[in-house]
Amino acid sequence: MIRLSAITPSGHVQLGNHLGAVRRWAREGTPSDVYFISDMHAMTTPHNPARLRSLTAEQLAVLIAAGVAPESVCVQSDLVRELGALTWVLECTCTYGEAARMTQFKEKSVGRSSVRLSLLTYPVLMAADILLQNAAEVPVGEDQQQHVELARALARRFNRTYGEVFTLPKAVLPPAGARIKDLADPTKKMAKSARDSAGTVFVLDPPDLVRRKIRKAVTSPEGVANLVDVLVACTGKEPEDYADRFAELKDVVADAVIEELRPVRERTTELLGDRAELDRIRATGAERARSRAQHTLDAALRLSGLT
Ligand code: AMP
Repeated sequence: MIRLSAITPSGHVQLGNHLGAVRRWAREGTPSDVYFISDMHAMTTPHNPARLRSLTAEQLAVLIAAGVAPESVCVQSDLVRELGALTWVLECTCTYGEAARMTQFKEKSVGRSSVRLSLLTYPVLMAADILLQNAAEVPVGEDQQQHVELARALARRFNRTYGEVFTLPKAVLPPAGARIKDLADPTKKMAKSARDSAGTVFVLDPPDLVRRKIRKAVTSPEGVANLVDVLVACTGKEPEDYADRFAELKDVVADAVIEELRPVRERTTELLGDRAELDRIRATGAERARSRAQHTLDAALRLSGLT
């Protein structure tokens, strides 16, 4: 059974990505899974090409450094031709109404005078990501569940209309508590692209900066609950284990986060200094993903009357 998930290089990897996604891919993933950097998805809103390229390399290094199996990692655009071809076939399977109904499209496009067409169509590219790799399970947050359901609907429609080729994927939601909140505004989730980085701990932040950000965390009830969530996620212990240290909660949390992130930060720095190794991992991952995709792509093109 193949599981597939991704991270978008729209900013630096933050603590929520680490605890809610990347660390789980490292712990629970198998070498047959696919974990990729979705650089093409980062282009659906205005982007800077040089920053996109550098964030892609950085995120690839962070995934490997966090312990995700190198064989299961790849970069989306290394399959740009295969994905482009399958996206077209799936766009010819999807209706305009289905794409325009996506909640995320409505939310992100509302009130904007200029919206990239790709913001409307990217769920179809996401369907291609999933179907090309024959993924059966797609672990995602609630915000992406609708997109995985679209991928499933397109797979089913294609299979019925032209012939069986795609595995029907299903979304798998993470267990509760996998939503780390912004330290400065715990009503929002921690995000890479937050406007003010004071509430976001980035995986590559140096320890003193991590400590400063945590010391400044708001201490409303939601803020404290979030700090406790982070502590429990980092240490694997129960909140009661810290009952006598609650007065120094922020220092305890800072220590735990710094220790959790230290090996990832150190290994990422090493990998980014050894570009040959990073390029080798990337090329191997691309080759593997491409060869796995070939049969499905060829069959989908042939069944739809192309090639
Ligand atoms: P993104 O690149 O934003 O799509 O996120 C990559 C992964 O990180 C997805 O599986 C998200 O659900 C997860 N993620 C992002 N932010 C958080 C957060 N604050 N808490 C927990 N998980 C998160």
